[in-house]
Amino acid sequence: MAAQIIDGRGLAGVVRQEVAARVEGLVARGVTPGLAVVLVGDDPASQVYVRSKERMAGKVGISAQTIRLPSDVQPEELLRQILALNEDSSVDGVLVQLPLPSQFSGGVEAEILGQISPEKDVDGLHPLNLGKLVAGEDGFVACTPSGCMRMLASTGVDLTGKRAVVIGRSTIVGKPMAHLLLAQNATVSICHSRTVDLADRVREADVVIAAVGRPELVRGDWIKPGAAVIDVGINRTEEGTLVGDVAFDEVTQAAGHVSPVPGGVGPMTIAYLLNNVSLAAARRSEREGR
Ligand code: NDP
Repeated sequence: MAAQIIDGRGLAGVVRQEVAARVEGLVARGVTPGLAVVLVGDDPASQVYVRSKERMAGKVGISAQTIRLPSDVQPEELLRQILALNEDSSVDGVLVQLPLPSQFSGGVEAEILGQISPEKDVDGLHPLNLGKLVAGEDGFVACTPSGCMRMLASTGVDLTGKRAVVIGRSTIVGKPMAHLLLAQNATVSICHSRTVDLADRVREADVVIAAVGRPELVRGDWIKPGAAVIDVGINRTEEGTLVGDVAFDEVTQAAGHVSPVPGGVGPMTIAYLLNNVSLAAARRSEREGR
């Protein structure tokens, strides 16, 4: 039987409704949640993502601003902007759109991102928030893995005791994803480019998260019958269409649940960004006694 499709677009609409309700309550108490996105350079994909974040923020009542910096901006200037946003009381969430240009390589990017105030770190990339995730404490969790967990929850699959394989070990997707699955009592393996016999590791999994950036890497005969498969990958083909890291047509023949690309994880990532901004504003409201 063909897999059930996890409708990320529909589920993102549900999350946005939840966020809009929270925002409405905050606005009634005089707190309008604010998001600031910093965009460096003119990468077309990043521009599309940023516009989409702005538009969706507006839909749920979050006030969004984008700070555009030229592609040759020096790290000192980006840092100055971040420190100013940290001080701006109308901004609850600060997000630097990745990837950054080459002058930020060699550890500079992580150093700069680490300067975003942990209370405004809605991407969950500050070492404090990463540490809280590992320690099982409340903090900001990266948006994509949060969205993936909600998608898994929507399938009704109980993760306790299940074998989960995460392909990809980035700080923004793979690693936080693995910790979220672990917190739900899954037995988790993290695979990466040096993993030996990747297909065999995936064949053991009840839950597969593909966050690689390799078009259709995960094949149908890698999938344990009935497994839940979440495809995080976004890859543009030469013809200009978007495909995931999962060979969707093959995988639907074996999996129990599978998320599509587009219309899967992408909309959920934005929905959880808005969720994080609304949570940051709710914490501000508590701090200010409103
Ligand atoms: P990174 O490039 O930071 O990480 C990719 C990971 O995949 C690395 O850990 C790498 O291993 C691993 N990898 C690469 N090739 C292979 C291979 N052949 N076999 C096994 N593992 C491999 O990417 P991100 O985590 O940032 O993103 C992953 C994908 O998800 C991309 O397509 C990105 O566009 C997409 N994405 C989608 C989002 C959404 O909202 N839908 C949000 C964020 C990302 P190693 O560490 O050894 O190099």
